[in-house]
Amino acid sequence: MRHQNTYKKLKDEFLATHTLCAKCDKVIPLYGRTVHHKYGRLGKLKCWVPGWRMLCWKCHDWVHGHPAAARELGLYAPHGMWRDYKKAVLNEAH
Ligand SMILES: [Zn+2]
Repeated sequence: MRHQNTYKKLKDEFLATHTLCAKCDKVIPLYGRTVHHKYGRLGKLKCWVPGWRMLCWKCHDWVHGHPAAARELGLYAPHGMWRDYKKAVLNEAH
């Protein structure tokens, strides 16, 4: 359960400090903010904050419904990087 607590702590901190939606660019009230896992949440990716984006509920729904368009906006993992922690780290390092 310690892992779960770590995730909750990271998530609460992330949501408290990220006020702008990464897609619509609007200031979102805390209760409307969500963590989007750009590379998925498999294994280490779940708690890997550089792979997170803050999205409002509406944009989060849109991203998962339109992965190709979201990918062009940089909100979805490039081809071959979904659920791949090592490639995600390299991709976010530049
Ligand atoms: Zn939004």
